[in-house]
Amino acid sequence: MYYFKTSKEILDFLNKTNKSVGLVPTMGALHPGHESLIKKALIENEIVIVSIFVNPTQFDNKDDLINYPRNLESDVKKIKKIDSKIIIYSPLIKDLYVDNISVKDFNFGFIGSELEGHFRKNHFNSVATIVEKLFNLFKPNRAYFGEKDYQQILIIKNLILKSNLNVELTSCPTVRDPDGLALSSRNDLLSKKERKIAPIIYKTLLNVKNKIKNEQIESVIFKIENEFESTPSLKLEYLEIREALSLKPVKKINKEKKYRAFISAIIGKIRLIDNIEL
Ligand code: AMP
Repeated sequence: MYYFKTSKEILDFLNKTNKSVGLVPTMGALHPGHESLIKKALIENEIVIVSIFVNPTQFDNKDDLINYPRNLESDVKKIKKIDSKIIIYSPLIKDLYVDNISVKDFNFGFIGSELEGHFRKNHFNSVATIVEKLFNLFKPNRAYFGEKDYQQILIIKNLILKSNLNVELTSCPTVRDPDGLALSSRNDLLSKKERKIAPIIYKTLLNVKNKIKNEQIESVIFKIENEFESTPSLKLEYLEIREALSLKPVKKINKEKKYRAFISAIIGKIRLIDNIEL
């Protein structure tokens, strides 16, 4: 079992080998969604590093940061069960932010300012600040990210290009509970009642996918938004259809192009996001 709290210990360990490295960045409270990324990394690399770091700067809401589920002991057990040779990097804030907690401005443009970027100011700069640090420290050959956070994948691809990083990004499909709810560490914070309501999020995406086959996008979204008005326990923050690569808004489907539907909804105090390919 390789459990390290400092990057220096990991670098000392890596310096002794010449093996391929796969990195899976996480904020912990691991679930089978994270585990799917780790398993994929194990197939494709000789060494796998799983980082567990709740990055304080990417939370614009103090309560969200305080309440974010943390379960290091159980995370370590889960990782050990997958493969006892996985390297766990669980740093203190100062190991990654060193002298001061500052966020780099990457200027991601449109893909950074839309959807999540609109509702969580500076979120992607904060994510990219930490991911760039991890890439520069461990120089992984490959890094693994989930489609659950699809916009984040676009951001990391952009980061790799912008910062000229030699990392291959692999995106992994969203793992869901049997009722369709995308697995998320935040699901642990839902009450039983809220958990019962939560699958509406995925059902809404499927509904959009189905309806746009025969109806104008604008009218589909308008009707669904209205339906949400009568479900006060679930507050719709956004429901959008965007071009998959540029995130540009879409009025009409062009069969040559790829699109995705994105949703963010708040149940009680918990904000959940999801997206699907159309
Ligand atoms: P997080 O710990 O929430 O920052 O997530 C760490 C990584 O796991 C990110 O790349 C996420 O996109 C990915 N991930 C989170 N939930 C899921 C899921 N349900 N299915 C697949 N990947 C996921």
